[in-house]
Amino acid sequence: MSTIVLATGNQGKVKELTHLLSAHNITIVPQSDFHVPDVPETGTTFVENAIIKARHAAKLTGLPAIADDSGLEVDALNGEPGVYSARYAGDNTTDEKNNAKLLKELIDITDDKRTARFHCVLVYMRHENDPTPIICHGVWEGSILKAPRGEQGFGYDPLFWQEALQLSSAELDRDIKNSLSHRGKALAELVKHF
Ligand code: IMP
Repeated sequence: MSTIVLATGNQGKVKELTHLLSAHNITIVPQSDFHVPDVPETGTTFVENAIIKARHAAKLTGLPAIADDSGLEVDALNGEPGVYSARYAGDNTTDEKNNAKLLKELIDITDDKRTARFHCVLVYMRHENDPTPIICHGVWEGSILKAPRGEQGFGYDPLFWQEALQLSSAELDRDIKNSLSHRGKALAELVKHF
């Protein structure tokens, strides 16, 4: 059985990956188990940030590492908040403040122009100096509501509308969200490599 360190403290991501990789005889261990501190996400792309995080975890643990970076791209805002999704309303902010800022920025934008998508990039590095990391990308299309709906999920889920389902992503059952989402798609791609 081989061990891979996951460059996140997010228990939800650890569970999801552990579940998907268990059939491949792989154990996923969160970087917090090795006391790996967070590294500044200084990249300007999801790919760069995911590589920065995976390399950092591989370097400090001596193990292969998986990292992800994700965010929301809104067309009417020329792609914002993008890689700054987690800190859109400022450093140490909250989901509520990020959502409030997004609604404010889109206040004059009509329904047909509120298209957006989530991106997730997952990176697997065999070691710190891996010159050919495996990079998987998942995308989830939707649009931005004018007011929050739903209680589940996190981040921008209450504002992310699925027209075909007539539900926001915060109104989706977790398994359904995983089967549709940017993260679910990137994970399905990554699993094919093991
Ligand atoms: P990170 O990749 O975990 O750093 O996430 C970046 C940010 O993008 C999060 O803090 C959320 O604001 C947003 N985000 C990423 N994925 C999702 C999602 O599935 N639902 C809602 N927001 C998300």
